[in-house]
Amino acid sequence: MTTTLPTTVVPRATEWLVSLAADLDGSLVLPGDPRWDAVRAAWQVAVDQQPAAVALVGSARDVVTVVRAARAAGLRVAAQSTGHNAGPLGDLSDTVLVRTGLLRDVTVDPVARTARVEAGAEWGDVTVAAGRHGLAALAGSSRDVGVAGYTLGGGLSWLARSHGLAANSVVALEVVTAGGRLIRVDATHDPDLFWALRGGGGSFGVVTALELRLFPIREVHAGILFFPVERAAEVLQAWREWLPGVPETVTSVGRILRFPPLPDLPPHLSGRSYVVVEAACQLDAEEADALLAPLRALGPSLDTFGPTPVTELGLLHMDPDGPVPAHGDGMLLDDLDEGAIAAFTGASAAAGPALLSLELRHLGGAVRRVDLAGGAVSAIDAGFALFAVGITPTPEASAAVRGAVRSVRSAMAPWSTGGCYLNFAEVARSGDELFGAATHDRLRAVKAAYDPADVIRSNHPVRPARGE
Ligand SMILES: Cc1cc2nc3c(=O)[nH]c(=O)nc-3n(C[C@H](O)[C@H](O)[C@H](O)COP(=O)(O)OP(=O)(O)OC[C@H]3O[C@@H](n4cnc5c(N)ncnc54)[C@H](O)[C@@H]3O)c2cc1C
Repeated sequence: MTTTLPTTVVPRATEWLVSLAADLDGSLVLPGDPRWDAVRAAWQVAVDQQPAAVALVGSARDVVTVVRAARAAGLRVAAQSTGHNAGPLGDLSDTVLVRTGLLRDVTVDPVARTARVEAGAEWGDVTVAAGRHGLAALAGSSRDVGVAGYTLGGGLSWLARSHGLAANSVVALEVVTAGGRLIRVDATHDPDLFWALRGGGGSFGVVTALELRLFPIREVHAGILFFPVERAAEVLQAWREWLPGVPETVTSVGRILRFPPLPDLPPHLSGRSYVVVEAACQLDAEEADALLAPLRALGPSLDTFGPTPVTELGLLHMDPDGPVPAHGDGMLLDDLDEGAIAAFTGASAAAGPALLSLELRHLGGAVRRVDLAGGAVSAIDAGFALFAVGITPTPEASAAVRGAVRSVRSAMAPWSTGGCYLNFAEVARSGDELFGAATHDRLRAVKAAYDPADVIRSNHPVRPARGE
C-alpha cells in the first residue's frame, strides 16, 4: 500500500486511519497528496468532492480494513464506483470515500448464465464479457455507468420492459457491513439485507461484488429515428399513440436533444437539435419493420434502425463517452395524454439550449410488475420516467440548467406519480418519495439492524429507524 502524508497537519482521526491502513492492497490518499484531485474527482465533474480521505481499495479485504479503521476513527464511509450520481452526496469532510475502480473483474458462468462482477466494474466490462457467450445483462444505456450504483438503485436497461429492473437480476451480493464483516447475502443468507440492497441504494454496506443473472440475447433490432426539433409535438404525440400497441419486447425512449457545437461530436449532431425516438426491439427485422412503420411514415430525416449486437446497445442513447460537468434530475409520470406531450414539448422549447436532453423512457411491462422474490424496489409503478439534463461548464450555465430542470418538473407536475426513480434523482429526495412510505419504513428498520450508527452513507441515504 502507499500513503503520502500531507504536509498540512493531519486531523487526528485521519492519523488513526492512516496507521490502520498500513496493510492495504490498494492505497489511501489524503488531502495534499499530488494525486488528490484525480482520485477525488467524480464522473459528474461539476461535483467538488472533499472527503477526509480517499481509499483506492484493491481487494474486498481492503474494504474491511477501511471500514473498521474509519469506524474506529469516528469517520463515516461512502462507496463510489464512478461518481455518476455524486451530486446528492453532500459534505464529505467526515467521510472516507471508498473508490472501487480497481475492482473490475467480471467472471461469466455460461452454463449457470450468471456473472460475478466486482464492484468497480462498468457496464461496458460486463456486456462485452457476457456477449462472448451470447448472453446479455440488464445494462444501463451508457457503457461507463457503474454496475454497482446502477443495480443497487434499480437499473433501467434497454431490455427493461421484458426483463424488469436490473435489481431483480441480482442472485447474490458480497458486502462489507458497517461492522466490518465481509458476507455473501442472497435469498437465504441475510435475506433482509439482500432485500434492502436491491433497489434501496448504497446505505446498507459496501458491496464488493455482485452476482447477476444473464439472458440468452445476442442481437436486437435497434436504432433511432431523427426528426427536426420543430416537429417535436407531432412526433412525440405519434410515439405516445404508438406505445399501447407495442409488445413488452420493445423498450423505447422519446427525446428532445439540443447538441452544442462541439468538435468531438459527429457533424450530424454538433450544433443540431432533434426530436428522436430510440428503441431496442427483441424482434426480427420483419416484425420490427412492421411495428416501426407508423413512426417511419412520419418521414424521419435519419433512420438508424438495424440488427444490433446487444454489446453495442451502450451506444444507442448517445451518452457522453467520459466525465462531464452536468446537472440533471428526473421524475416519474403516469400514463401520458395529449396535454402531457404538449406540456413536455412546451417546457423543452422554453428551456432551449439549457437542456441538452429531455427524455421520456417508456416503462410498463415487466418494469411495472412487482416481483415477489424481488428487493425493496422490484417494480416502478409509473408509465414513464422523465429525465432532464444540461451541461454546466460555468456557474452561469449551471444556474440556467438548474432553472430549466425545475421548470420542466413543474410543467409536468400534473402528470407526476409523486415518486422519483432513485437513479434519475440527482438532487436530494425524501425516502418516502424514492421508495414509498411502507418500503422506506422497512428499509430504515434494516438500516437500524445492520448500521445503527449510520457509518455507511449513500447519495440517497436511508437513516436508521430509532424505534419511534
Ligand atoms: C450518462 C448517464 C447514463 C445513465 N443511464 C442510465 C440508465 O440507462 N438506466 C438507469 O437506470 N440509470 C442510468 N443512469 C443513472 C445511474 O444509474 C446512476 O447515476 C447510478 O447511481 C450510477 O451508478 P455508479 O455506480 O456509476 O455511480 P456512483 O456515483 O459511483 O454511485 C452512486 C451511489 O451508488 C452507491 N454505490 C456505488 N457503489 C457502491 C458499492 N460498491 N457499495 C455500496 N453502494 C455503492 C452509493 O450509494 C453511491 O453514492 C445514467 C446516468 C448517467 C450520468
